[in-house]
Amino acid sequence: MCGVLTADHIGQTVSVCGWVAKRREHGEHLAFVDLRDHSGVIQCVVDNGVDVRSEYVLRITGVVRARPDGTINTGLSTGHVEVGDCVVEVMNAAEPPPFPIDARADDVDELVRLKFRYLDIRRERMQRNLRVRAQVNSAIRKEMESNGFVEVETPLLMPSTPEGAREFLVPSRKNPGSFFALPQSPQLWKQLLMVAGIDRYYQIARCLRDEDLRADRQYEFMQLDAEMSFVSQEDVLENIGRVVIAAAHAVTGEDPPEIQRMTWRDAMERFGVDKPDLRFGMELIELTSLFASTGFKAFAGAHSIKGLLVDAATYPEAAGFGRNKLDALTDRAKKIGAKGLVWIKIGASGAFDSPVAKFLSSEEQSSLLLATQAVEGDLLLLVADQWETTVEVLGQLRNDIGRPPVFEGPYRYVWVTEFPLFIGSDPVTGKLRSGHHPFCAPHPDDLHLLDTDPLKVRALAYDLVLNGWELGSGSIRIHEPELQRRVFNQLGITDEEADKRFGFFLEPFKYGAPPHGGFAFGIDRLVAILAGEENIREVIAFPKTQSGSDPMTNAPTPVDPSHLLELGLRLLPPPASA
Ligand code: ASP
Repeated sequence: MCGVLTADHIGQTVSVCGWVAKRREHGEHLAFVDLRDHSGVIQCVVDNGVDVRSEYVLRITGVVRARPDGTINTGLSTGHVEVGDCVVEVMNAAEPPPFPIDARADDVDELVRLKFRYLDIRRERMQRNLRVRAQVNSAIRKEMESNGFVEVETPLLMPSTPEGAREFLVPSRKNPGSFFALPQSPQLWKQLLMVAGIDRYYQIARCLRDEDLRADRQYEFMQLDAEMSFVSQEDVLENIGRVVIAAAHAVTGEDPPEIQRMTWRDAMERFGVDKPDLRFGMELIELTSLFASTGFKAFAGAHSIKGLLVDAATYPEAAGFGRNKLDALTDRAKKIGAKGLVWIKIGASGAFDSPVAKFLSSEEQSSLLLATQAVEGDLLLLVADQWETTVEVLGQLRNDIGRPPVFEGPYRYVWVTEFPLFIGSDPVTGKLRSGHHPFCAPHPDDLHLLDTDPLKVRALAYDLVLNGWELGSGSIRIHEPELQRRVFNQLGITDEEADKRFGFFLEPFKYGAPPHGGFAFGIDRLVAILAGEENIREVIAFPKTQSGSDPMTNAPTPVDPSHLLELGLRLLPPPASA
């Protein structure tokens, strides 16, 4: 390989294959050719008469020799040597590339990078990222296999299922008017595999969700999907924790970090989000009882009052926040759902500089200083609202103000457990919605509330979070048909409908379903963090753009009307807004 040649190889005859990174004249008869492959670059001294240009594909055979004094390049692993006496075989010519292959990837417009992705991948950044990805996949497979998991592949064409995301549909030519759905995940299959006695299943599975794309979301993504029989939640967390750490270790070589634990309620109370970023402090401070008998109208009777301390020692800029910045924070808080945001700048001897200072009694002011430990130069942000709004607003502000880029160390993993089984009601049906998906088991201690106070029921459901990114989720599943029906009913799915939609899934549970549980985590996200990337597109060979298309193939494209006819489909005019 080009990049491995060092002084140890001096005197050896070698053949190197690769692409011309650079060619420069060297006197009258000779030229330097820097030949590149994924391992690096080697300087070759070739006859000037050979016609080679950037990105030509060559095989060069020659003898490794020390570079003459004064021409050594210590910035290059091969910088002490060169290949001389070269025979050059031009294996293919190349057009000038649309962007320099050796330049930094972020110097080039992303659309151009994606249009010529095969050239973009030839560059160092993508070469490294795809190799990190392969390392992660390989470490996952090794770890899963050594723990007795069996890899089973499941179908891409399947019926529509209730996992919450919008599905991609595939029309059936043989059954006009009927459709397959592409899997949001192999959830149903893996649970059936438990009934089938594959007691430890895994798959590096492609999942598809027709949702708006973001930095951490593509239509298609890869998950490590796993399921186990006869296990407790602890067993699942232990096994999945082990594999994630093994994958991270394969890339970073760092000592395995500890995975912390937190209940969902704790995460919301302390960090205002269900995927807390534990790399920085700034925890939400509980203040409801402090203002229990306040005369300040905006706080009186509020369900929940919490504060955020932006301390000047860590965030020196906060002390200088002017009116504009504070108004922007207030607008942001309102956008998220708060009625307002109270800000207080702490001056000398704890004096309050705030539009609401006059409404707070001196006891309230000193208790507030005590509770928040705020000192001169600090900024306090307070929200009083319904609990959900209070924590959500302050959680977002905490992230906005304090959160480092996702890949900035250290790696802080946390299991968030005891998610709610249900969340609010569906605006259309008025029925509850699943916190995760309808197959999660209720917490046994809360079963008695299932019919009477379902929003209070916790699930045996958990997420793994890394540096504020949700890596994945899982749960212990319901394995008794009767309990599954009760949960379906809360979700507004009647027995008849359940039979019609998921009969194929419920029926097998009558034939001896073992207790089981599992997990799935997003490989793209883990790789992105380990590769130091903010966007999962950087770790996917052929991703879609943010707007969901592929500039290289132009997909999605219209299809031939005869193709539609064959499928029994006719197109409506595009909606006016499209
Ligand atoms: N199927 C779930 C998901 O993709 C994960 C699980 O519950 O195992 O989010």
